[in-house]
Amino acid sequence: MIDLLIIRSNIYTPKGTSALKGRGTRKIHHISDGAIGVKDGVIVDVGKTGELFEKYRGAKEIVDAKGRALLPGFVDPHTHAVFVGTRENEFKMRLEGKTYMEILNAGGGILSTVKRVREASREELAKDLVEKARTFLSYGTTTIEAKSGYGLDFENEVKMLEAIKIADKESPLDFVPTFIGAHAVPLEFKSDKEKYIDIVINEMIPYVAENRLAEFIDVFCEEGVYTPDETLKILEAGLKYGLKPKIHSDEIKSIGCTDLAEKVKVYSCDHLLKLDSSGLDALKKSGTMATLLPGTAFSLKEGFADARRLIDNGVGVALATDFNPGSSYSESMPSIITLGVLLMDMLPEEAFVASTLNAACAIDRGKSIGSIEVGKQADFILLKENSYLFIPYHYGVNPIFETYKRGRRVAHPTDC
Ligand SMILES: [Zn+2]
Repeated sequence: MIDLLIIRSNIYTPKGTSALKGRGTRKIHHISDGAIGVKDGVIVDVGKTGELFEKYRGAKEIVDAKGRALLPGFVDPHTHAVFVGTRENEFKMRLEGKTYMEILNAGGGILSTVKRVREASREELAKDLVEKARTFLSYGTTTIEAKSGYGLDFENEVKMLEAIKIADKESPLDFVPTFIGAHAVPLEFKSDKEKYIDIVINEMIPYVAENRLAEFIDVFCEEGVYTPDETLKILEAGLKYGLKPKIHSDEIKSIGCTDLAEKVKVYSCDHLLKLDSSGLDALKKSGTMATLLPGTAFSLKEGFADARRLIDNGVGVALATDFNPGSSYSESMPSIITLGVLLMDMLPEEAFVASTLNAACAIDRGKSIGSIEVGKQADFILLKENSYLFIPYHYGVNPIFETYKRGRRVAHPTDC
């Protein structure tokens, strides 16, 4: 007997376990009057309602979707979700035209979040993260990547990763942890960055890896932060311990960070607002995913990454929120899809694939999530409407009717 049978839905899904690229990014499958069967949290059957209802009429629970769209749960492959305190005053100052230095002097910027995170206990961070997870789930996201990077010393980086581990156990949302000790240069090492890099490589990475606190390692590669050479050194040190590399790349200036994709196996290069042609070549040749974060460009009123050029050149594109208190304070993947479609020239089906299967591949989860297929985890959403097109079309509202994680209903946003 199966646990759950969803009938009379409009199923929309990409297919496969690896990233869709080029024109293939438009390929989504539709089953009208569709049904799925779930057992032990896994999809065991997908087909037409008539056929599946015959087979599984004895299912423990049968849900009539009444024609609603059934999609894979969104995967958010780039977040800085572990933080306490918000920075709305800084947001206001930015809109008033204050410079970055003026904001820093008024106590804003990333280092203000570092200060708050250092003051918080592991339990406070975890509790706060579980609360945020409820928002992610109610907007249809069923897995997020979550980074450290606001601790910037051994004790606090470890504390952030431990908080992610606790939240992963306590919330139905799945967390994929990334260590980014090299997210900024801590104030106390302003004049001795080498020393800090040494601590990241020789103290933090070994501990994080040996205690299985992270799966990925990331570096903020940017002018005035970490150079491509320093980034490579840190990523290679992580690789030695089995941590999978990612890069914050070409966000503010193009300084050759994306070229690293050809030198080391990188799972994704993220941001890419200032991607140059040599970076594009490196992505093409290496098959590295481009993870684009339109919420950040939108909030900072910057130009967007060139999604069209990336897709047309055969690069796999994923979308993410970059959820963080400074430059993109939103957990909503439906909003990100809307920005992708209306401001980045992506087709609705491309933005949908970029938020599901390709996003799953950006965090090495293509085999288990990101599509509605037999054998994948039963992470899916029902929309209020009958098509995925309503996500960008009926913008600015929550399109989610219900979110299911491993076959269990975990959010029903119309309740709240
Ligand atoms: Zn980021």
